[in-house]
Amino acid sequence: EEQTALLNSRTVKSKAMYVHASEHLSGGVASSYQGRDPWPIYIDSGSGDRITDVDGNEYYDFHNGFGSMVQGHAHPAIGEALAKRYPLGTHFAAATEDVIDVADELARRWGLPKWRFTNSGSESTMDAIRIARAYTGRDTVMKIFGSYHGHHDTVMVSIGVEYDKIGDRDNLASLPYGGGIPQSTVDMTIAVPFNDAEAMERRIVRLDAEGRKPACVIMEAAMMNLGVVLPEPGYLEAVRDITTRHGIVLIFDEVKTGLAIAAGGATEKFGVTPDMVTLAKVLGGGLPSGAIGGSAEVMSVVEDHTVYQVGTYNGNPLSMAAAKASLLEVLTPAAYERLGELNDRIVAGCQAVIEKYDLPGYAVGIGSKGCVTFSTEKIVDYETFKNAQDVELCDLAWLWNMNHGIFMTPGREEEWTLSVVHSDEAIDAYVRVFDELAAALTA
Ligand code: PLP
Repeated sequence: EEQTALLNSRTVKSKAMYVHASEHLSGGVASSYQGRDPWPIYIDSGSGDRITDVDGNEYYDFHNGFGSMVQGHAHPAIGEALAKRYPLGTHFAAATEDVIDVADELARRWGLPKWRFTNSGSESTMDAIRIARAYTGRDTVMKIFGSYHGHHDTVMVSIGVEYDKIGDRDNLASLPYGGGIPQSTVDMTIAVPFNDAEAMERRIVRLDAEGRKPACVIMEAAMMNLGVVLPEPGYLEAVRDITTRHGIVLIFDEVKTGLAIAAGGATEKFGVTPDMVTLAKVLGGGLPSGAIGGSAEVMSVVEDHTVYQVGTYNGNPLSMAAAKASLLEVLTPAAYERLGELNDRIVAGCQAVIEKYDLPGYAVGIGSKGCVTFSTEKIVDYETFKNAQDVELCDLAWLWNMNHGIFMTPGREEEWTLSVVHSDEAIDAYVRVFDELAAALTA
């Protein structure tokens, strides 16, 4: 309560803006995930590793636009690319040369030969699933229980499910995430637990016997919406083997991991190549963009016009200019080395705090991503996450961070995202603020 009152007193201009915004902007925000009770924080500007809200509060940004701004805010190389592109025109609904260069670079990084572009992660996963369905001639989609893959109907299933409704491991519930999602669509999406290849195969065999073999398995190679949950050794290899044996298209949803945990995302990091990948977030350097990569075989259904993979703004010149500058000038091998060093520093710092105060939890990190997980049990899937995370502590940690100049995504599901321009001071500030919270909690 004290921390809530403090944050409220520091954000009075945001409150006034919210009152105005609520007249014509539903809930005062552009997206439900930007909302917050009693009012959202409105941002004025960002530069490098810092952002400033409309009340003039400065924060080190560890939210980074839900993990999009690995380049940092207002990166000069991206600014230059946009300034060069703008006078040449910003939209033709016809490809520019930059689109080709970006596809070349993504193909090189992912080892997948064929690419298409979209404007968001949701569009990428929606199109990838359609391509997999057309390629296999099947309707069922298999996903990981608890995973978020965007806001289209097929994947708004089996996320955020209440613990008593989860079901057993071989019969996890298919439940819509919010209203407006047809039951017939929900029924076509089957969820299996993360880090359990045997459960996945058992479910596939049963579905096959029912004449409902999945078209695809869509999954994050490392889960990024239950904090950060890494794959257990051998898990991804087993999934690759199962999907190959059963003729199921394996889609790695790399909207969060792609360009964030390595130059070639989770595919490079874990050394397992899927049939398709989906990208968005980091790709556009802060401009809306997304991409789908795939094997020549799977993507043939796009090339032979079986599937319409379309969109007025696909490959938008501004987004592609930003993506090209990001890939070739900002997200270089040296940048990923730097991200690794920064992440090691923040993980080690947080782990030291946990041990110093004997807190129930652990720090985990990979690439530019990581989090402190408040749990005595290791989180390996949604079930362990649901069971073990201390919700109140997570909420308090968010408020504490906000009141001490650390901008984070609200909620216990979210991780930190570092940018290539994060300073050592920013990292040390994060650890110091965490230490102060731990001290206050254990006093
Ligand atoms: N896939 C994953 C793994 C995501 O984390 C998200 C968004 O957070 C999406 C897809 C959807 O992306 P977007 O919000 O750009 O539609």
